[in-house]
Amino acid sequence: MPPSRRSCRRRRCCHCARGHKALRVRRAHAATARSPRPSLLPENEAQVIAILRRCHEARVPVVARGAGTSLSGGALPAANGVVLSLAKFKRILAIDPLTRTAVVQPGVRNLAISDAAAAYGLYYAPDPSSQIACSIGGNVAENAGGVHCLKYGLTVHNVRRVRGVLITGEIVEFGGDALDAPGYDLLALITGSEGLLAVITEITVKLLPKPQLAQVRARGVRRRRAGRRGGRRASSPRASSRRASR
Ligand SMILES: Cc1cc2nc3c(=O)[nH]c(=O)nc-3n(C[C@H](O)[C@H](O)[C@H](O)COP(=O)(O)OP(=O)(O)OC[C@H]3O[C@@H](n4cnc5c(N)ncnc54)[C@H](O)[C@@H]3O)c2cc1C
Repeated sequence: MPPSRRSCRRRRCCHCARGHKALRVRRAHAATARSPRPSLLPENEAQVIAILRRCHEARVPVVARGAGTSLSGGALPAANGVVLSLAKFKRILAIDPLTRTAVVQPGVRNLAISDAAAAYGLYYAPDPSSQIACSIGGNVAENAGGVHCLKYGLTVHNVRRVRGVLITGEIVEFGGDALDAPGYDLLALITGSEGLLAVITEITVKLLPKPQLAQVRARGVRRRRAGRRGGRRASSPRASSRRASR
């Protein structure tokens, strides 16, 4: 039984249980809407370095952001933190059809790489369902993958080199132009690190030749249907006993 207006001890609530709920929602909304976090939009690596150095000195948490499509909410800023958006890093710097690689900035959309490489009969394989919107920097940070990954692997298998900036402002590079870089496999460490190790500023991705034929085939449908029908028949002793008793 909901409390009456007089018996209710919560001051600002109205007279029913629904009122309590509404109050809770208002409070939650106030908590999230209280102070908008500043977003910083650097245009080049030097600005990223300057921002990270300043924030590090001032102990301000920084969260990198690509296109903001991550379902895990990884690009949400921490309390008292700032968002470092890579939205202006959206240039494809080079495509080399001989080595089948592309050098891109992190804000480039996944699908834009394949669109640009199509002129050379190449494409970028990892295809998260969000590929029309998500950024390649976000893909590296999340080690994203879609249906193609069953055959061609995840982002980690399709990236050659990642350049980034540490929170202290130092530039770091993982991997290299060779098929396999010497030393520890730090490329695999940065891929999937969810923006916690460095802000990615440049990526070299592998490109693949476009297949001459791509077909979608649905397999096993008929058998499953037949199975279902068989299942119904098999589960029909009750029905047959019903029929027999009629
Ligand atoms: C409809 C829909 C379908 C999806 N389908 C798939 C799918 O099939 N497969 C899949 O794997 N994911 C999928 N996702 C999740 C999401 O799209 C991917 O994780 C994608 O890689 C996120 O990219 P983003 O640019 O939006 O990154 P954001 O959401 O902006 O950021 C994601 C994380 O990466 C970090 N980050 C972003 N940019 C950088 C950078 N430059 N340097 C360092 N860290 C950075 C952020 O801090 C954050 O932790 C889907 C999402 C949606 C909304």
